[in-house]
Amino acid sequence: MKQITQRKNRNRIIASLLFTLFLITGIILFLSRTKEDFGRQPTTSVLYKLSDIYTAGSIFDRNHTLIAKGLSIGQMQWNEDNTIRQSFSNIIGAPIKKTSASCYSVLGMAAPTLYGYHKTCLDDWKQWIFPQSKNGEPIYLTIDVDIQSAIYHSTKQFDNAVVTVSNYQTGEILGMVSLPTFDPTDPDSIVVDKNGFIDTTYHHSCYINKNLQTSFLPGSTIKPILLGIALDINPDLVNMTYNCKKTTHNFHGISVGCYDGEYHGKVDFESALCCSCNGYPIQLLSQIEESDFEQGLLQLGLDSNETYPNRFAAVGSTFYGNGEHDIANRTLATIGQANCRMTVWYLTSLYAAIFNDGIWKNPTIFYNDPNQLGKGNPEETLIYTKNTASILKKALIAVTKKGTAAVYDMSSLGFTIAGKTGTADTASGKRTVWAVAGIIDNQKPYVITVCLPDQREDASGSTVAGPVMREILLKLLQK
Ligand SMILES: [Zn+2]
Repeated sequence: MKQITQRKNRNRIIASLLFTLFLITGIILFLSRTKEDFGRQPTTSVLYKLSDIYTAGSIFDRNHTLIAKGLSIGQMQWNEDNTIRQSFSNIIGAPIKKTSASCYSVLGMAAPTLYGYHKTCLDDWKQWIFPQSKNGEPIYLTIDVDIQSAIYHSTKQFDNAVVTVSNYQTGEILGMVSLPTFDPTDPDSIVVDKNGFIDTTYHHSCYINKNLQTSFLPGSTIKPILLGIALDINPDLVNMTYNCKKTTHNFHGISVGCYDGEYHGKVDFESALCCSCNGYPIQLLSQIEESDFEQGLLQLGLDSNETYPNRFAAVGSTFYGNGEHDIANRTLATIGQANCRMTVWYLTSLYAAIFNDGIWKNPTIFYNDPNQLGKGNPEETLIYTKNTASILKKALIAVTKKGTAAVYDMSSLGFTIAGKTGTADTASGKRTVWAVAGIIDNQKPYVITVCLPDQREDASGSTVAGPVMREILLKLLQK
């Protein structure tokens, strides 16, 4: 009798133990599988903690070339090629604990993978209770080491240069160079203040990726982008003509010169973009109601606080910025002055939509899974109608055939290029000059933006940025 009771009790204990174990396993499995749904956002302080525990994972380019890898906690080993190190330096970024700007760098964006945050809850758990040295996971950049090196070689003679190359069909970033650069393996090249921080507030800093972190006056490169808003509202506006002469260049009391003081006479949509007439886009956009125009700006993501997938971050691009929404600011911003400011990446992405039937793609700069390479983010946003995109693309092809971007026409190589140049006068008296190009080809659906700030006052997009674009295009097309 006694034995039977003992056995019964033992069975009960075993059953309840098994049940408890089952319950705990269930909870842990549930937590670890659904952790994304719980909205656990890796905060900066969590990542800082993890970077004290994890040796960073490896960083490869899209061809699986090793760019850098964690050597030990807080230490990275970089590729031995100096061009690779320099050209990738500020994209990958300074050590995340030395900078407040890590959210704009690959180290910051990919930190959850590189520093182990994407491991399961169970792993995290053990990690917090029994901290031990661990290795992060690898990431695969969408950047192509050859494109990166080509850009670097074509721009390194400039003190200040910013270049983005993207695939306009997938939104993948293929090249992103920001000059000046630094050598991440040279201990003397990382200069810190008394608190151990790098100064990244200075907009010309070698430690920041200006493609994402600095916005510039876009000059005439903004014109096609804005004209697209008007064409979406009223496609017939493409037939508007305008007589560009001194007496017609006063808009609501603001006298606007044309590029280098030259008046263009009678211009239509295409010829106005070819010669980069200032009067034409101002006149055309004045046909659009302010409320419709502002709706269009939001559609383009200007003056808004957009966020992007996978922790991708860039400072905002603006039309009115903090300025008044009045006719003076609207007139000047239409030609890329006043409060109109664009990051080089964002301007590139808007041109990408023009070359991609009006479809804007979310940016991708890295994947955790190399099988994703070439796919991009499936989410799409239609920012122009197909008709508008097609009108704009056709006019931009004319700009390289017979307009200000003729220096980088590539018809001799059998390629059609759509392009636009830009020249902006800044408050310092220096100029920011631009060249944008889209390769109209399904094998190389690339969009490229060259931005050269701090140029002399006789420089222009056509004469200074254009030849750099030509050199980069030759390398990309002959690759
Ligand atoms: Zn003009």
